[in-house]
Amino acid sequence: MIKLLKLLKPFIWSVIAVLVFLFLQAMLELYLPTLMAEIVNNGMMKGDTGYIWKFGGYMLIVALGSSVCAIVGSFLSSKIALGLGRDLRNLVFSRVEEYSLHEFDKLGTASLITRTTNDIIQVQTMLVMGMRFMIYAPIMCIGGIIMAYSNDRSLTMLLAIILPLMLLFIGVVAAAIVPLFKIMQKKIDKVNLVVRENLIGIRVIRAFNRIGSEQERFIEANRDLTDNSIKVNKIMAMMQPIMMLFMNITTVAIIWFAGLRIGNGQMELGGMMAFMQYAMQIMFSLIMVTMMFVMIPRAEASAVRINEVLDMNPEIRDSKNPIKADIKRGYVEFKDVTFSYPGAEEPAISNISFYAKPGETTAIIGGTGSGKSTLINLIPRFYDVDSGNIIIDGVDVREMTQQDLRHKIGFVPQSIVLFSGTVAENIRYGKDDATEDEIKHAAEVAQAKDFIGDLTDGYDSPIAQGGTNISGGQKQRLSIARALVRKPGIYIFDDSFSALDFKTDGKLRAALKKETKDSTVIIVAQRVSTVMDADRIIVLEDGKIAGLGNHKELLKTCEVYREIVSSQLSEEEIA
Ligand code: ADP
Ligand code: MG
Repeated sequence: MIKLLKLLKPFIWSVIAVLVFLFLQAMLELYLPTLMAEIVNNGMMKGDTGYIWKFGGYMLIVALGSSVCAIVGSFLSSKIALGLGRDLRNLVFSRVEEYSLHEFDKLGTASLITRTTNDIIQVQTMLVMGMRFMIYAPIMCIGGIIMAYSNDRSLTMLLAIILPLMLLFIGVVAAAIVPLFKIMQKKIDKVNLVVRENLIGIRVIRAFNRIGSEQERFIEANRDLTDNSIKVNKIMAMMQPIMMLFMNITTVAIIWFAGLRIGNGQMELGGMMAFMQYAMQIMFSLIMVTMMFVMIPRAEASAVRINEVLDMNPEIRDSKNPIKADIKRGYVEFKDVTFSYPGAEEPAISNISFYAKPGETTAIIGGTGSGKSTLINLIPRFYDVDSGNIIIDGVDVREMTQQDLRHKIGFVPQSIVLFSGTVAENIRYGKDDATEDEIKHAAEVAQAKDFIGDLTDGYDSPIAQGGTNISGGQKQRLSIARALVRKPGIYIFDDSFSALDFKTDGKLRAALKKETKDSTVIIVAQRVSTVMDADRIIVLEDGKIAGLGNHKELLKTCEVYREIVSSQLSEEEIA
């Protein structure tokens, strides 16, 4: 919490202004009962109308003044808190953007969303209240006690009995409520997770008729959250009438004892009324302080969660003295690379060595789970290797900046992501300043021109969120065009032709060959026909290289490759 409060720095003058205004408000409010006592004692009791008018006017002015202070104070404090919320959201978002995939795995998407939204709102709310009560409530409380004491010492003894009782009660309630508040955020996370999974997986859920069970899962998470909130609110609800009871008992007691003292001529009527007001002010401020104490732990829990996001150090960072590799070219070399996912017992790939150079196509083939995607995800440094080196244009990928590294690469991932926007915008994602011609050319090479032409608005046709309004093969071609438009030194295609029919696959590869003749091309594929004419084929099995060479060589030397080939091609095609 303290750490987050440092973010208040740019608002420091507003904060000071808020404190000043609230201080003034408290002072003015403390002055009111004294004025009232004046009116009652010297005006009403003596029948002096002029006196009443005069002091009534004073009261009005003081009341107006305190209202103005309250309004300005509230306005400023809201502005500060909302501004801090905005800054904090920006900070969290840009931090998360720096994360490598490890950190995403650790916190989870659902929780990251709650932390950026709900948790920040908690801190924000607490700040609005905090600024209002932090200075106002203590002044009212202490000032009230001083005023009450100077007004009538013996009646103040009454407060000395009631206030501790009230504090005790407040303490008990806070102790019960705080733990509940703390688990609240976790329950919100859970609801968020279920909703997210359901929205993303809606097709699968429908197809497998899981709507019922998913609903149950949601209802459970939802009920869990609701039960917790109800518990909290029950306690809060109980609190109010009991506080009222405290106040009313106090009022009655004051009237009772003050009545006795007035009867004895030890006190005046105005004094009693003023005393009553001070007692109320003290109690109200105590309630405010309590509310703060209830809210602080909740906001604190949120602050901890926000700090977790901010403090997590991305595992993959740019080196301090980055080396700049040649912009073009595109030599890729793996030197005895071993990598395992965090928590996995076996390395996902081990002892991989090969090189790929411009003008050549390197293909990677192997069964599912053999580590193909893992291997190529290491090239843009989505993960860092455990041992060995990946060298691009003579520089280890860990020694260049991620920006430079990724600038060299046109990456087509296995699971394709398109963004909501138009077709052209999605292709332009590969290169901000791509001209219309460049986009059209990229689409043409990617064999996407025809289907884009068939769309109602051509290149301006909208792509739905996640690209759900076009087919799998169309998505693949758009994401290929997106990589092509960059004209990078290294192309990486992760199983990017799998959803294409053989004819389109062939045409695409022929067009690609021309387009990428100066670049390094790395293709992951399942189909032998896709990799057959590659200059170099790497056969992966269980994360290890089972064979390396061209089609002909591998047919002679590599048993694994022969098996793959014979399962896919007929005898005469092999010969
Ligand atoms: P391929 O692309 O050849 O089908 P992958 O490279 O995706 O295979 O996966 C290789 C192995 O690594 C698999 O056994 C898989 O379970 C594991 N794996 C893949 N991604 C992750 C991940 N994010 N975390 C942990 N293990 C993973
Ligand atoms: Mg894969």
